[in-house]
Amino acid sequence: MTLKAQLEERLRGLETAGLSRHLRELDSPQGTRIQLGGRELINFSSNDYLGLANHPALKEAAIKAVADFGAGAGASRLICGSLKPFHDLEETLAEFKRAEACLSFSSGYAAAMGTITSLMGRDDIVIIDKLVHASIVDASRHCDAKLRVFKHNDLDDLERILKWADAQKRRSKSEAQNILIITESVFSMDGDLAPLREIVDLKERHGAWLMVDEAHATGLFGERRSGLIEQLGLSDRIEIQMGTLGKAVGAAGGFICGARSLIDFLVNSARSFIFSTAPVPASAAAAKAGVELIRSTGGAERYHKVWDRTRQGRTGILPVFECAGSILLPENRQDACPTLSPIIPIIIGDENQAVAMADSLRELGYFIPAIRYPTVARGTARLRMTVTADHAEADLESLTKALVSIRNSQSTLSNG
Ligand SMILES: *Cc1c(COP(=O)(O)O)cnc(C)c1O
Repeated sequence: MTLKAQLEERLRGLETAGLSRHLRELDSPQGTRIQLGGRELINFSSNDYLGLANHPALKEAAIKAVADFGAGAGASRLICGSLKPFHDLEETLAEFKRAEACLSFSSGYAAAMGTITSLMGRDDIVIIDKLVHASIVDASRHCDAKLRVFKHNDLDDLERILKWADAQKRRSKSEAQNILIITESVFSMDGDLAPLREIVDLKERHGAWLMVDEAHATGLFGERRSGLIEQLGLSDRIEIQMGTLGKAVGAAGGFICGARSLIDFLVNSARSFIFSTAPVPASAAAAKAGVELIRSTGGAERYHKVWDRTRQGRTGILPVFECAGSILLPENRQDACPTLSPIIPIIIGDENQAVAMADSLRELGYFIPAIRYPTVARGTARLRMTVTADHAEADLESLTKALVSIRNSQSTLSNG
């Protein structure tokens, strides 16, 4: 079979399973109103939680960096591409996260890949939460360490695996054997939080290290809004803090914060950092402006706004589906309703039904795409709704009405 014919067949398979994906071209900047296919839609799907991606302060910083440092970096950081904006950003991030040092990467994906594969080797053990992001899963599989997965946020299961790891360690007598636990502080597709305090206690009792991905917590938790680690006062007790600059920070890139030795080691051995051209200096400058904005009084205002909308979304929208019984929420996913972040998942279950609901919403003027396998487990397809600081109270009120009308028409269908 030719490549073309074989791929066409595979794509048809995805289509039948309701798992086919297509790019949608946006003709506007990121925001609560987006232009899509010639129509304006109210957007409830971005990770731009604080509304910074199109903020004048970030745009001006990017434009100034282009004027001062050019469009491209011209080489990897270790050759001659380590332009000043990257160092300025890393200093700002280290201070923000109360860490000794920081290293920025071209993306969060590259940060996870470079860090996990360079730190963990053949004698080691990596333990990840069942629901961590694909970047962590891929990196954990790619390194040579033994990989174990604990049930989502389940401390007993984590402890069981740590005891197993202890036994392995005793048996192997290898001095070099290390154990790394990796989790997220806010889970990207469920919006729930990890029990970080308890995980820190556990890893200390077992002599393990901990890496926490704050992709969806940076900008949204803590007095300085640096993340859930700060809010829980755990900065000194977590070895590796990971984050991305493409979500609440409003720009692009990923980063790792930790001890000076961790950062120096990554510069020497993280392949995704070493063998890749430095990002455009404008993205580092925009990210630095994003962090500064988050820390300002303007940032505090945006923080309060996004949490107001989160409370409104949780109390207004989730009951629409809970009250409907389990026509949309499978019995075993009722627990998916409580959410403590601007990520508000409406779990549908069936892939095709989730896509149909997203289509109906789009017809009514709202954009919330269906999230399906492999981003989430099979049979847990969902509308992953997110709110941002720029949404108005009225936006959520009208969305609630739209969801009620869709729910009612669906329950009529399933009763008929
Ligand atoms: C988005 C995301 C990443 C990847 O970050 P990018 O900068 O988009 O590559 C990593 N972890 C989590 C939890 C994410 O949501």
